[in-house]
Amino acid sequence: MRLAKLTLLGFKSFADKTEFTFDRAITGVVGPNGCGKSNVVDAIKWVLGERSSKALRGTEMLDVIFAGSAGRKPMGMASVVLTFENPVEAGVAVSAVTAAEEAEAGANGGGEEVAPETAAAVPEPIADSRLPDAEPSEDVGINMAVRGKRGLPIDTDTVEVERRLYRDGTSEYLINSRKARLKDIRDLFLDTGIGADAYSIIEQGKVDAMLLASPMERRVVFEEAAGVAKYRQRRLEAERKLDRTETNLTLAREQLESTERRLRIVKGQAAKAKQFKALDGELRAVKMTLACEQFDELHQRLMGLTSRLAELDGERHAAAAQLTAIETAKQEAELTRHEAADELRRVESQLQNARHEEQAAQQRSRSAQQSAESVKRAMENDAAQLEQLTQRVEQLAVAQRDAAEQIAGLSEALQSAERGLEQAGA
Ligand code: ATP
Repeated sequence: MRLAKLTLLGFKSFADKTEFTFDRAITGVVGPNGCGKSNVVDAIKWVLGERSSKALRGTEMLDVIFAGSAGRKPMGMASVVLTFENPVEAGVAVSAVTAAEEAEAGANGGGEEVAPETAAAVPEPIADSRLPDAEPSEDVGINMAVRGKRGLPIDTDTVEVERRLYRDGTSEYLINSRKARLKDIRDLFLDTGIGADAYSIIEQGKVDAMLLASPMERRVVFEEAAGVAKYRQRRLEAERKLDRTETNLTLAREQLESTERRLRIVKGQAAKAKQFKALDGELRAVKMTLACEQFDELHQRLMGLTSRLAELDGERHAAAAQLTAIETAKQEAELTRHEAADELRRVESQLQNARHEEQAAQQRSRSAQQSAESVKRAMENDAAQLEQLTQRVEQLAVAQRDAAEQIAGLSEALQSAERGLEQAGA
């Protein structure tokens, strides 16, 4: 396993995408002071999970994003990718993974409380709360059983580890382009000597720091280099387990004491329960005797009531027969009542008709009387007119006689006039 490539984009002074390819020969980065050489080391530390902005020579984590220059705008994201070659190691077959390593894989890969390597000795970094430690990761494929076969515990020939930070503060880790947690990054490089604080990065001033370091601080580096860090971690876990077991033991003892106390109480309660059971038996027997006596009494009463019930049943039958007869009589009476009602309605209808006829006759009689009176009045008028007409006829007869006498006179006059005329003519 070896580091093959470092790719930077938007990280500190690397605004453009920059790739450092580390071939088999030694690669050196040279340049004048302040040109950005240490930024390369910072990038490697950052992608390996450095959480302290001070360790990256900034005041806050966002300082790692390219902040812009005279001719260039600031960038919105910093990304650093480390590409490792992770070939199957020479002479190692998959079957070579030993039982001990599998056990180790179970302990590390499957355990819930894997503490960061050398956590006890390394000072806590200044935490950046926006880092996605607690976010769930995808299955990035870390499998400790692969360790004996390849340098990194992922069964791929190349392993890419990426860290991104956006200007809004959101951040993510990716292993082979799959979302990961910082814990996954730490698990990936456990016991490889690779890590933000591991011995594989000897940066400016680190040699001095190593020389000046306390024996304990130096021991951390040596232990990691010697590969004993995992045993140290296991010891820590075992100690934690022991602590938990002791706590559990204390709890169990307390529970035992409390159970013994409860047992004593329960024993007392059991004696009382026994006494209660005996008294309860007596009570049951008394209750049974009482119940038998009550049963006998009730049985007697039941017999009496049964015979009374039979009598009442007979009476009920007789009453039912009477009721039937009454019902029949009632039905007949009802029938008669219906017929009478029909007859009444018929008579009332006839009476109504007779009344109507009477009213009509009275009406007719009144109108006949009125007609007779008007005829009588007409006759009286006619008589008066006749009287007048008789008088008029008499007057006219007188006038006729007078007229006839006048006509006779006038005829004689005419005849005499004609004779005079004839005589005159002759
Ligand atoms: P020395 O030899 O003194 O150690 P160096 O070559 O290692 O220097 P660095 O200290 O890595 O250089 O780089 C410093 C340069 O990086 C400075 O020019 C600084 O302006 C630039 N730089 C640092 N952070 C950013 C940033 N966020 N955006 C843009 N440029 C940055």
